[in-house]
Amino acid sequence: MNSEALIGIVNNAALLLALGLLYDSFSYKVSNKTIFDRVITGSIIGIIGVALIFNSWELAPGIVFDTRSILLSITSLFFGFIPVLVAALISAIYRLSIGGPGVLTGISVIASSTIIGLLWRMHRQDLRKTLGKFELYVFGIIVHISMFLLMFTLPFETALEVLRVITIPVILVYPIGTVLLGTLLNQRTARNEAQQALRESEARIKHIYNNVPVGIFRTDSSGKVLSVNPEMAHIVGCDSPEEAKEHYTDLGKQLYVNSERREEFVKMLKKEGSVQNFEYEAQRKDGKRLWLLMNAKISAEAENGFVIDGFTMDITERKMADFRIRESEEKFRAIFEQAATGICQADLDGKIIQFNDRFCKITGYPAEELMNVNFRDITHPDDLPKELELVEEVVAGKCKNYSIEKRYLHKSGSSVWVSVNVSIVSSSEGRPLYFLAVAEDIAERKEAEEQMLRARLAAEEANRYKNELLANANHELRTPLSSIIGFSDIILSDMSDNLNQSQKKYLSHVNQSGKLLLKVISKMLDISRIESGGMDLHFEKFQPGPMVEEVIQGIESMASIKNITLNVDMDTDIQEMTADKGKVQAILYNLLENSLKFTPSKGEVTLKIREKGEFLQVSVTDNGIGIQDKDIDRIFDPFVQVDGSSTRKQGGTGLGLMLVKEYASLHNGEVSVKSEYGRGSTFTFTIPIAPNIGYDSETVRMPEEVN
Ligand code: ADP
Repeated sequence: MNSEALIGIVNNAALLLALGLLYDSFSYKVSNKTIFDRVITGSIIGIIGVALIFNSWELAPGIVFDTRSILLSITSLFFGFIPVLVAALISAIYRLSIGGPGVLTGISVIASSTIIGLLWRMHRQDLRKTLGKFELYVFGIIVHISMFLLMFTLPFETALEVLRVITIPVILVYPIGTVLLGTLLNQRTARNEAQQALRESEARIKHIYNNVPVGIFRTDSSGKVLSVNPEMAHIVGCDSPEEAKEHYTDLGKQLYVNSERREEFVKMLKKEGSVQNFEYEAQRKDGKRLWLLMNAKISAEAENGFVIDGFTMDITERKMADFRIRESEEKFRAIFEQAATGICQADLDGKIIQFNDRFCKITGYPAEELMNVNFRDITHPDDLPKELELVEEVVAGKCKNYSIEKRYLHKSGSSVWVSVNVSIVSSSEGRPLYFLAVAEDIAERKEAEEQMLRARLAAEEANRYKNELLANANHELRTPLSSIIGFSDIILSDMSDNLNQSQKKYLSHVNQSGKLLLKVISKMLDISRIESGGMDLHFEKFQPGPMVEEVIQGIESMASIKNITLNVDMDTDIQEMTADKGKVQAILYNLLENSLKFTPSKGEVTLKIREKGEFLQVSVTDNGIGIQDKDIDRIFDPFVQVDGSSTRKQGGTGLGLMLVKEYASLHNGEVSVKSEYGRGSTFTFTIPIAPNIGYDSETVRMPEEVN
């Protein structure tokens, strides 16, 4: 073995590793991301190559050996195409400049090392993580076998001589040199990656620190702010962390509304080392109050105490909501306790779990006895089945609440009438929780209702007696009256020659009074029949014209006695109608009789008959005394005679209009009146032309339209 060659090669390899270490120390800032970076890297490596060639071992003039093959093959493998191209070019140019018989061989070795390195790189995926020492060694052997082969670019004799001298040193040193340089670069790459990861993680943490919506702080135990993140600065009303740091030098006095609370916090920290969910009221730099929640722990000892790290959240909204809930709970409690109605809360089995004073008073039980009593036990047994049905409906979700009038069993044993409104209160998920009952004592109202019922029954009873009395009176009065009227008629007509003037006068008084009395009796009887529902209509077909004629004939004499003009204005195509003719005539007769009665002599009464859809409309207009507005509503009531003196003068019973109204309504018709006091009145009635027709405001026009 040629020891000179070995020493020369080892020296060169040592230089390579030394330069490699130097490169590693100074090149950490070159990222190799841009083409420019790669060209720089290639240039530095090229210069190292030049240094290696410059310090090469010379076998013969112009034939030199150095470790450029290691440098360039490893450069190819680790840095890729551009850096190795630049490095190889620089090295090749320098080798060319040295010249000598080994120029071609030297440049070929540069090319082959570069190409093998690039090919290796191309076929290896994720090179850096898996490239082990063994692979680097094999790689080194292959690169240098190719170098041996390239020795034959020298004259054959020279090549053999060269191989004889360098084979062993090369095989011993070069693959190991390859492994060492490769390992150096591998470690460098791993270190770079770790640094990169660290930088990224730092940046991430910084980003979180600056953007997290939670205040992060570091203070010392005396209350001085050491650092805060932007959110913390924002919470305390500062524009920047720097401003907060500058402003807050004594948190207990500056931030805490109650500085004792800060002392409490520090005491807890000292004792426990950390504090969780500490709430306190704070004031911002601008004085605005807010509520904060804090988690903190002691993270380091400091000169005069310790350093505190923690985070803070603004919980003002939640706190306000809590206050509002508490306030409304207190309000509810006050209403519950002081309500004028009884309120009670019962569980789903009906057990009373809460109640107010008023409820105790209604039921008569003291509070301690009422607790846990089931509502069934204080409900009257007669009212219980109905209420249980309602409870079932509410529990089944068919309705949200129910109202019932029922009786509670008072502690004294009596029953208390109450009106209860019960609703079911459910959780936010709709699960029934309990019943809420509001009970109002209605004993007085119930008593009043019962009294009214008793009074109504008594009135009905009295009415029945009255009707019976009237029916009896009618019978008992009619018989003697018929005799009085009949016999006085006979005496006046058959025996008038035997009577003197006074006898005739008295007898005719007897006759007229009898007739009037008969009229009154039959009207009263009719009214009593109507009231008891015993009045029937006797329908028949008739022609309106002749029916009206008959009434006119009956009343004409009265008109002529009073010298009143009686006009008839009949304009209808109705040839036939079906109604109770007698009652229709009675209506007409009553209205005409009243008009004649309440119209002074020489006045005028007009009867107007019209057809309105399926109704016959009849109106009687006079220019008599008229009726005052205040009286107009009551003239249809029984026994009402508006003006005592004038009606007395005119006579009458006060029953006529009531009968008119009842007869019309029995026919599904209507009566109305319009009057002007001192000027006259118009009474109008409508009757359907067939019995099955009802009053319909669309088909019948109102009396004023007729007028
Ligand atoms: P009476 O038998 O008294 O006429 P009515 O019931 O027929 O009883 O009438 C009640 C009252 O209505 C009359 O007493 C009178 O005061 C008033 N009244 C009825 N018709 C007229 C009318 N055409 N003009 C003025 N007043 C009238």
